[in-house]
Amino acid sequence: MVELNKKQQQIVDVLTEKDALEPCPRCKKSDFSVQNYYCPLLTHEEPLDIQVTGKVAKVIPTAIVVCGNCGYIMLHNLMPLGLLPKEKNGQNTNDLTTEKQEN
Ligand SMILES: [Zn+2]
Repeated sequence: MVELNKKQQQIVDVLTEKDALEPCPRCKKSDFSVQNYYCPLLTHEEPLDIQVTGKVAKVIPTAIVVCGNCGYIMLHNLMPLGLLPKEKNGQNTNDLTTEKQEN
């Protein structure tokens, strides 16, 4: 059995608490691994924003869970999981999931 570090164990604990451990939606197996890194999910309002202007509407920090059988990747928003740090370097990390102001 693979040893989980603190970050991975926190994610497993919260997903267990929230009853989010259903089998893989693609292959129906229950062989998952929680990755030891997060994924900043970039969102944009218009289809070509990122390619043309680099404009990002929101960044959603997510935990990554991968199916060990078929490789299907599931992303869980850290905000409802309660896994976002309150503040870092004086900046409220809630800003990560709110729309950026245009200057
Ligand atoms: Zn699968």
